[in-house]
Amino acid sequence: MTNTKDTWDVVIIGGSYAGLSAAMALGRSLRKVLVVDSGMPCNAQTPHSHNFLTQDGKTPFEISTTARQQVAAYNTVQILNDLVVKADKTAQGFDVALQSGTQVGAKKLIFATGIRDQLLNIPGFSSCWGISVVHCPYCHGYEYHGKKTAILANGEGAMHYALLVGHLTKQLQILTNGKPEFTEEQMAKLRKHNIPINDSAIIEIEHERGYLKNVIMSGGNKIQVDALYFRPPFKQHTDIPKLLGCEFTEHGYIKVDTFQKTTVDGVYACGDNSSMMRSVANAVSTGNFAGASLNKELAMEQF
Ligand SMILES: Cc1cc2nc3c(=O)[nH]c(=O)nc-3n(C[C@H](O)[C@H](O)[C@H](O)COP(=O)(O)OP(=O)(O)OC[C@H]3O[C@@H](n4cnc5c(N)ncnc54)[C@H](O)[C@@H]3O)c2cc1C
Repeated sequence: MTNTKDTWDVVIIGGSYAGLSAAMALGRSLRKVLVVDSGMPCNAQTPHSHNFLTQDGKTPFEISTTARQQVAAYNTVQILNDLVVKADKTAQGFDVALQSGTQVGAKKLIFATGIRDQLLNIPGFSSCWGISVVHCPYCHGYEYHGKKTAILANGEGAMHYALLVGHLTKQLQILTNGKPEFTEEQMAKLRKHNIPINDSAIIEIEHERGYLKNVIMSGGNKIQVDALYFRPPFKQHTDIPKLLGCEFTEHGYIKVDTFQKTTVDGVYACGDNSSMMRSVANAVSTGNFAGASLNKELAMEQF
């Protein structure tokens, strides 16, 4: 077990795609790396993950299990199932506290903590999340192409979905779940592409094991669709970057530069917590880059 005297070159907080990718780059560079993961990746409920080369169609768990095995094979890397609850800046780097009571030291930190989706409090909604209520046309659009589809969004967000999903299916409608907020120009575009708008309140999502059957509207009207697109608001998984002084973007992401460095010295971030481009490929890419950037920073300090 890790004890209070352990000091790591890098502690990576979050050990899903982004964190493990950073760990691989650092571990292979002979950096002593601790990955701490609390086991709550955002895509856990989706039955098949798509659009990531060599892993297309696998379950999220299969992909992360293979990643974890490959990273754990490096004796420079240790992976712990635990939750980081605190990190403080010290003269040497950082003191990191885990929920289990373990305390470790780190020269540098990487946050690969992902984000927490705020799903709608509508019966059936959470059960369908990642299965037939989906956020990403690149991840799930192919599987639902040509199918009856609805977009749950309003205004600019709905137009963005209509642009992309309208290419995948012609059986498309927009549910605004309240007063529509479209400009005349947007309305004309939707009319041109035969995309109707329904502004009734959504009461329930009827489904079978997460697969949508009907969206029940106020007044009892049922809309039969196979897929519903929705982009949930989100929160960061942890406020530790904020407490360390990291700046955030106006959209709520940890601010990073082109090297994945945050605005606090010695602290990097990668994956969903710092990028709008939400995909396994992007998490792996930004994780890999954070690892390489941080290795270079450590090398420059020693050389
Ligand atoms: C429903 C759904 C389906 C998706 N489907 C696809 C798809 O088909 N294809 C695709 O490319 N992308 C898909 N995505 C997007 C993809 O899953 C994410 O972009 C990717 O998981 C981001 O990886 P990450 O490592 O940044 O974060 P995550 O995978 O969310 O992992 C973050 C990890 O950090 C841990 N953590 C957080 N805080 C702490 C802490 N304080 N201490 C320790 N650990 C902590 C969490 O427990 C979690 O394990 C999907 C997303 C969702 C929500």
